[in-house]
This record gives sequence, structure tokens and C-alpha cells, in this order.
Amino acid sequence: MGSDSLTSTKPLPLPTQEAEEPTNQSTTALLSFDTDCSDSSSSSNPRQKPSTTILFIALLLLTCIALSAAAAFAFLFFSSASSSSAQSSFETTARALKKLEKPVVLLVSSDGFRFGYQFKTSTPNIHRLINNGTEAETGLIPVFPSLTFPNHYSIVTGLYPAYHGIINNHFVDPYTGDTFTMASHEPKWWLGEPLWETVTNHGLKAATYFWPGSEVKKGSWNCPKGFCMNYNGSVPFEDRVDTVLSYFDLPSSEIPSFMTLYFEDPDHQGHKVGPDDPEITEAVARIDRMIGRLIDGIEKRGVFEDVTIIMVGDHGMVGTCDKKLIFLDDLASWIEIPAEWVQSYSPLLAIRPPAGYNPSDIVEKMNEGLKSGKVENGKNLKVYLKGELPSRLHYAASDRIPPIIGLIEEGFKVEQKRTNRKECGGAHGYDNAVFSMRTIFIGHGPQFARGRKVPSFENVQIYNVITSILKIDGAPNNGSSSFPLSILLRTAK
Ligand code: AMP
Ligand code: ZN
Ligand code: ZN
Repeated sequence: MGSDSLTSTKPLPLPTQEAEEPTNQSTTALLSFDTDCSDSSSSSNPRQKPSTTILFIALLLLTCIALSAAAAFAFLFFSSASSSSAQSSFETTARALKKLEKPVVLLVSSDGFRFGYQFKTSTPNIHRLINNGTEAETGLIPVFPSLTFPNHYSIVTGLYPAYHGIINNHFVDPYTGDTFTMASHEPKWWLGEPLWETVTNHGLKAATYFWPGSEVKKGSWNCPKGFCMNYNGSVPFEDRVDTVLSYFDLPSSEIPSFMTLYFEDPDHQGHKVGPDDPEITEAVARIDRMIGRLIDGIEKRGVFEDVTIIMVGDHGMVGTCDKKLIFLDDLASWIEIPAEWVQSYSPLLAIRPPAGYNPSDIVEKMNEGLKSGKVENGKNLKVYLKGELPSRLHYAASDRIPPIIGLIEEGFKVEQKRTNRKECGGAHGYDNAVFSMRTIFIGHGPQFARGRKVPSFENVQIYNVITSILKIDGAPNNGSSSFPLSILLRTAK
């Protein structure tokens, strides 16, 4: 699985060739000019004394060389001074725990918190975490499909959906015909080892105030009463925060080492009104107030500097409108796709034709129609055999993934047939390379440097970051084992 891990942390190759070539060229040009000058002056008037001209050119050359050397030294001096000051502006070692016996990680998710929402309005509490912690400067990259269940479970397992089994919010098991829904808690669906299980395997305690998969009793995790809440979207956000805070009132040895806290907003509003409506601004402000409530409560208990708070979202959000529709029935001249074959329309099209049909033929005919220019918005849908999807999507290695997958352009939707239904709102689930699908990552705590920005990374890296903070061995996963070193401060030996 290591081969699946991100390579974005690789340093960029230094442009040595490009940097050197112009210098060589200019040196050559200077020399040839010099040679040409002396040549031409001597050949045009062989009797004229060249001494004054030569002296002048020599002096000019010396001045140029002296000036270039001074400029090069000045450049080297200032660039090394500025890079060393940039490096030294961050701490290099983790801050020691003051009050807690051992590390505690609180993982907070704000559903559908698109990257950039933090600038919509004043968010003093989120910014307190950003300014005193480490942030993914251009956002956290979700896994594909950028939907709630696949992503939340990738965050806590470090696995891509094909490996953790939750390949969509809803899907059908091809062997049993059973349907997975967001209320399915049977362990057979949920593969991999989520953090609460890893933590309890190591004799530590975990508490979940909602998180997809957390109610599933699996391995050492038995979803303990009082420390594992059954999902109920109508519980006020304040109550969720206050319950999490109450865990910090337990004797130090009983405080759970890992806790989750989940808010449905601003995803809920994003679907209704799209990402650019004032309703989103209000939802973001409310999330900020919840973060404020959390920080205040932890601060009152004197452990704010000891607790690691990781704030994430699961995906972003993009506006959708009725004119951005593609109808499968419009493909009828090329191929008929009955509704019973379709397991998901948008934002990823997933088709499982019955036995006896050749998926390759279906893909070919669908793409022929879509590219013909005769299907409305056809160019905004491209259909693949799942094994031929771009490998960066990691969306093939599970029989739960239907054999035919259509990637839809951001903001478009696929439907079976034309209706009069008019709909403008928001959606997510699209290709995870699309910027609007990005969400936030903020890490605040003893092992996160203050005010540091890191490049964007995929959420499968978070599992290893958390096990690293908790100093426990994690289960095999798609994250890179060296990623935590790139984002965390080293603990003093
Ligand atoms: P999505 O359709 O991808 O936008 O999913 C977001 C919705 O998932 C939320 O609005 C909730 O209704 C639902 N949800 C989130 N967490 C859970 C959970 N742990 N159990 C059941 N449903 C959930
Ligand atoms: Zn979501
Ligand atoms: Zn949603």
C-alpha cells in the first residue's frame, strides 16, 4: 500500500541547468564582443594605435566583473540570511505537556467546510488555531469520491475508499445484493482499522461524538456507552461541545486519548443554497462560535496548550444549477441505459450492467454519444471502465465499485430523463483534484509549529499524523510513513 501513498512531499528538482545556461551565454557573448571589437578595430585601421581603446575596454571589463561579483555576494548574503530567518521563525521541537499525563488528540470535523470559507467572515476562533498552529495553506485534499462517508472514514483509517470499503454514501454489495446506507452499522461494510480501534488496541481510551463508522462495533471497539454517541443530527452543537469538554473533567488517566466531534454545517446549507450565499456565511460564523466554545472550555480546564486540536472538513462544495444537466435518456440513439443499471447518478455516475452485457461496449457507445455534440452538455461527462480511471483517483480495487464510472465536470449533474424540476444549490463528490472540493486542515497543539503553513495533502495522511502524536503504531494504510515528520515537531528525547 505504500506505493499508493502521495508523492507530493518530494522536493521540486532544482533548475540548475536553466540557471547556469544564461550565465554561460552571456559570458560567451561578452567574450565574442570583445574579440570582435579588437578584431574589427585592428582590421579596419591597422595603423591606428589601439592602446587607448584596449585600456578602455579592459577597464570596462574589470568594472563589470567587480560589479557582478559584488551583486552575487550581496544576493548570496541576503538570500541565506532570509532563508535562515524563515527557518528559525518556527520552533523545531515539540512543546512539553504541562498538565496532561499523555497526549490527547481531538479531531473536529465541520462537514462541507470548503477551503476559503474561513475568509468569508470574521472567524476569530478558527484563526486563533490557524495563527498558533499549522495549516494546509491551500487546503486539505479529499479522497475520491468527495462525499461525506468515504472521506470521514478515510480520515480515520488512512485508507482510500476502495480499501476501507465505504466507496460511496450508498452502494450495493454485488455478491449479496445488500444495500449500504448511512445508517448501516454492520461491521461487514467497514473495512480497515479506524483510529478509535487502533487507540483501544493500545490500551488507551477513545470517545466519539459522531463520526461515520464510529457506531460500528468492531475488534476492540465496542462503542462504549457515554463515550460513543449514536448519530442524531438534531443534537444542538453546543451540547456536543459540552459533552466533549466534560471528558476533560475526568481524572487525568481516564481522559480519552482520542476524541471526535462532528458538525453537519456548513454542508447542510451548502446543498440548499450553494457555497456563495449569505446563509453559508452565517453557518461558518456559527461553526466559529462552536470552536470558540471548545477553546474556552479547554482553556478553563487549563489544558489548552496540552491538547492537540485537529480541525478538518471532509470536502468542499460547488454551486449547481438546472442548466448544468446531462440526461442518460439522451444517449438512447447510441445505447439505452435503464435506470436499474444505475447505482448513482451524481456527482459520480456508477453503472453496473447485468451479467451478459459487455461493460467495454457500453463505455464505448456512451462516450461516442457524449462526444457527438448532439447530447446536451455531453462533453461534461466522461465514462470509464473503472480500471481505466486515472490512477490518482485510486478508485478501482474493490468489487463494490461498479464496473462503469462516469466522471462529471464540476457543478454538472446526471439524471435519467428530462423533468421540469428546477434546482439550484450545491453539491460535492466530484473529482478530488477540483479546487472547490478542497477543505481545511488546521493542527494546533504541542507538536504543531505556530503560524506554520504546509502544502496541501490528501486526508489519508491524517491517520499516521494522529498515531504519531499518540505515540502508537498504526495499522497499514495508504498514507506515507514519513508524512508525520514533514508536518510535526519532533518530540525531545
Ligand atoms: P452528504 O450527503 O455527503 O452531504 O452527507 C452529509 C450528511 O450525512 C449529513 O447532513 C448527515 O445527515 C449525514 N451524516 C453525517 N454523519 C453521520 C453519521 N455518523 N451517521 C449517519 N448520518 C450521518
Ligand atoms: Zn460531507
Ligand atoms: Zn453534503
